[in-house]
Amino acid sequence: MNANLASPRPLIARVEPLTRTRAVRGPFDYRLRPEQSDVAVGALLRVPFGRQTTLGVVLELATESALAPERLAEPDAVLGPGVPADLVELAAWIAEQYCSTPARALSLLLPPGTAARVGRPKPVLVAELTEAGARALRDGGRLTERQRAALTVLETGGPALATALGTATLRRLETRGLLALRPLEKASRPDAVAVGRRLDGAPALTADQQRALETVLAALGGNGRRPAPERFLLHGVTGSGKTEVYLQAVQATLAAGRGAIVLVPEIGLTPQTVGRFQARFGDIVAVLHSGLGQRERHEEWMRLRAGEARVCIGPRSAVFAPLHDIGLIVVDEEHDGSYKHEGDPRYDARAVAQRRAEQHRAVLIAGSATPRPESVVDLRRLRLPERIDGRPLPPVDVLDMRGLHHPLHPVTRMALADVRAAGTKAIVLLNRRGWSNFLSCRGCGHVWMCPNCEVALVLHRAQGTLACHHCGHRRRAPSRCLQCGSTSVARHGAGTESIEQELREAFGSELPVFRLDADAAAGKGRLAQMLARFEAAPSGVLVGTQMVAKGHDFAGVALGVVLDADQTLRFPDFRAEERTFALLTQLAGRVGRGEDGGRVLVQTLAPDARSIALAAHHDADGFLAVELRRREALGYPPYGTLIRIVCASPDAGDALSLASRLHGLIVPSGAAVLGPAPLFKLRGRFRSQLVIKCGDRLPTLRAVGAAVDACAADAVRRGISVSVDPDPQ
Ligand code: ADP
Ligand code: ZN
Ligand code: ZN
Repeated sequence: MNANLASPRPLIARVEPLTRTRAVRGPFDYRLRPEQSDVAVGALLRVPFGRQTTLGVVLELATESALAPERLAEPDAVLGPGVPADLVELAAWIAEQYCSTPARALSLLLPPGTAARVGRPKPVLVAELTEAGARALRDGGRLTERQRAALTVLETGGPALATALGTATLRRLETRGLLALRPLEKASRPDAVAVGRRLDGAPALTADQQRALETVLAALGGNGRRPAPERFLLHGVTGSGKTEVYLQAVQATLAAGRGAIVLVPEIGLTPQTVGRFQARFGDIVAVLHSGLGQRERHEEWMRLRAGEARVCIGPRSAVFAPLHDIGLIVVDEEHDGSYKHEGDPRYDARAVAQRRAEQHRAVLIAGSATPRPESVVDLRRLRLPERIDGRPLPPVDVLDMRGLHHPLHPVTRMALADVRAAGTKAIVLLNRRGWSNFLSCRGCGHVWMCPNCEVALVLHRAQGTLACHHCGHRRRAPSRCLQCGSTSVARHGAGTESIEQELREAFGSELPVFRLDADAAAGKGRLAQMLARFEAAPSGVLVGTQMVAKGHDFAGVALGVVLDADQTLRFPDFRAEERTFALLTQLAGRVGRGEDGGRVLVQTLAPDARSIALAAHHDADGFLAVELRRREALGYPPYGTLIRIVCASPDAGDALSLASRLHGLIVPSGAAVLGPAPLFKLRGRFRSQLVIKCGDRLPTLRAVGAAVDACAADAVRRGISVSVDPDPQ
């Protein structure tokens, strides 16, 4: 007789404990109690671990362990179903691809609020304008600027998600009866922050859109057994209607009974895109982003896990949405740097999206007007070469600033005066916030530097402070030099704050100025409000950092200006050209979307720089061709992989010696290890860097991982941090 029938074998769970330390690697076996027999892969457990307890995720179930059953501990509790099995597999892939640990990778994709023990979910709130609110707007009732902006959004766009507008502001308006807050109901009418023009139904597609969509639909309709699911690059000029192609592809995916993930760069800056999806598909859309409270995020996550929502839209981390059967993943504005995660694991959501699409045999569409060279080589390109309605791209003039001292070129001043006279709009981009670059003493030449970082402090005049843009250090703006006592302090360069002032002084109140940068937009909902105010204004200038160039679709922008266009070129980085080209092209993309067309002015000290000249001619193909040749010659992506290792320590010698030791340990197989090279001091830590350039990605990653593991204990003891960044941006 079979003994197993009499005494069934124990059920073993292989559990990865969620710790940050590199030294601890699971999985470890635990014996499940009979009442825990429904535990599945991905389940979240609380388990005894050494002398403590810890959270852990079930990686695998088994009936046998190398250890005798009586030596196995039992979990203290099952905390929930955790994550679907495909995400457990994805975490393992991320850990390997980004030289991290399974535990760190798993903690990226747990249900929101896992660590904080989730309570009952709070409802997602929707704000709606009341008649009293409409009256207050019309009659100029007593309203702060922020309150007026929120009400304006509701008036022009209808009901909107409260978190997008700032719940605190809305609560105050609610107590005055100027708006109503209600929970988002199932099958309620779709809500969207209305910024940008709205389409009601789906429009008739242009011939180019139709062609692109049909190719995607053919791939979507293919049976699930094809060996490699298709991956597309939707390369469409700005304003060519890429979003409409995504929308109809999502529609087809839903009709086939599958789900879709739509990644966008940053929700605060792309409320229009989110709004279009919600308007088209309603409650089946879940939004996951950091502007939501933890409970709201948990609720949205659960709607996806339960299959109630089948479209997830959100930034980078939405790539981990717990959808069951993904048919389509869209990466909008695929060139955007925000897809790369800054903390360990330093994953790239674009690469993770490709992996997830493979897992689910889903179609991938990456879209951009300025695609990355990597995507041009790796993906099948579909093109939208013209703007909707055949509107031309705006002409671009490059203005040589050499020898000029005023921040605005005379041609720029005239063009802005024309905008004021015509009552249209302009966007001015300067990729530097604050008042000026740095301060120096006219008496002794002293430059005010950050005490923690080797960088100059930036003046923020409105706050009366000097600030470090790297570590956040702040101090009062000086009135005299600490070294020599001189009261003559020189300000060098311009930032968004001083340009704002400059514009106000030059053009007066007839041309209102709206500033959009990390300072002006601090606080929930502020970005959407600022964009809504600029849109609602009949005329004005939007001035700000690269935020102003991101995907907005405003009518009536007749002028775009880029100040100091070569600023991004001065970074010692192989992506400097790509970034500069993208920034100029994207800014030009915001201009001339109305009937009246528009123009773009680019001020620069490097008028002949290749990326600037090619962007001025809207020549993406020319740029990509040259850039790909250059990358091939140098072995840069997509023709090779770069891996960056940074050692940081309060002691400069420690950082350098660890980097040297790692260099010795990484035995390259056809890889070149460059460095150690010093980086500027950051947050009080000296840094030393290695860069590895290789053709054979995975073996090199493994060699790097092994080397870092070998040094990990020593590094921890000496307080040296080691960060590994495959595919640095
Ligand atoms: P892109 O993302 O390519 O820059 P958008 O998706 O923002 O372009 O589209 C530009 C504008 O054209 C939007 O206002 C959009 O609603 C509109 N649009 C898109 N497709 C069509 C169409 N087929 N017919 C009419 N308008 C369209
Ligand atoms: Zn001095
Ligand atoms: Zn600093």
